[in-house]
Amino acid sequence: MAKVTINKEACKGCGLCVSACPKNVLAISSSNSNKAGYFVAESVNDNCIGCISCALMCPDTAITVER
Ligand code: SF4
Ligand code: SF4
Repeated sequence: MAKVTINKEACKGCGLCVSACPKNVLAISSSNSNKAGYFVAESVNDNCIGCISCALMCPDTAITVER
């Protein structure tokens, strides 16, 4: 199964990855924020298919996909 990892401190919470994911794997957290104060994206289920759309979309290269 593919796995998506977010580099929390690099994320600015822009939500582009959330929109890019065809499997609704990602969401912006309402409780998990980083040192810069941004609420960050996180994986909310195990449905990742490793398409890397999210990683390609992220302007801050905060996403790693393993497959
Ligand atoms: S790799 Fe594809 S399926 Fe997995 S979280 Fe990113 S956009 Fe979603
Ligand atoms: S696209 Fe990148 S910076 Fe934007 S919310 Fe997703 S992981 Fe964070």
